[in-house]
Amino acid sequence: MAFLSKRDKPFLNTYAFIGAVLPDLPIFIFFIVESIIRKTPGNELWGSLYFTESWQNFFDIFNAVPLILILLGIGYYLLNSERITVFAWSLLIHCALDFLTHHDDGHHHLFPLSAYVFESPISYWDRNHHAGIFAPIERVVFLIASIYLYRRLKTRLARWCLIIVNVLFVVSYLLFFVLR
Ligand SMILES: [Zn+2]
Repeated sequence: MAFLSKRDKPFLNTYAFIGAVLPDLPIFIFFIVESIIRKTPGNELWGSLYFTESWQNFFDIFNAVPLILILLGIGYYLLNSERITVFAWSLLIHCALDFLTHHDDGHHHLFPLSAYVFESPISYWDRNHHAGIFAPIERVVFLIASIYLYRRLKTRLARWCLIIVNVLFVVSYLLFFVLR
């Protein structure tokens, strides 16, 4: 959102926001369906079910760079839509950051053309792959981007959401990295 926001066009923030969160939305749906509705135990959830083909295909649709590039082309060249262009760029930025921060749980970036998955040396969560160093850096970058973005958000709701997400992000660091 910080990358894509424009000072005189606050309406674009909404499209940048949707693009930023959409690639992870199917994982929340997976969690709700399998954990809350089907009551699958946690180790089975993330150990095997997450990697089944049907769930992987569902995740991949929202993380597929070729499909997003088509959307970007349609938005930019055919429809001349700044909203769709910002939305597609936001999806791409999410995919690029995922590309760099997933070790053995990355998405099929080139879905549906190829099953290739890049194994990044850095993981955003796995201490065996430098998460211990990466996680605090990620939070600091997130905070700096938030301070920059804060003045560009025009509603009180959006500003409060930004503050709350930052607090939750720091709390997640304490829970998963410091107190563990
Ligand atoms: Zn993601």
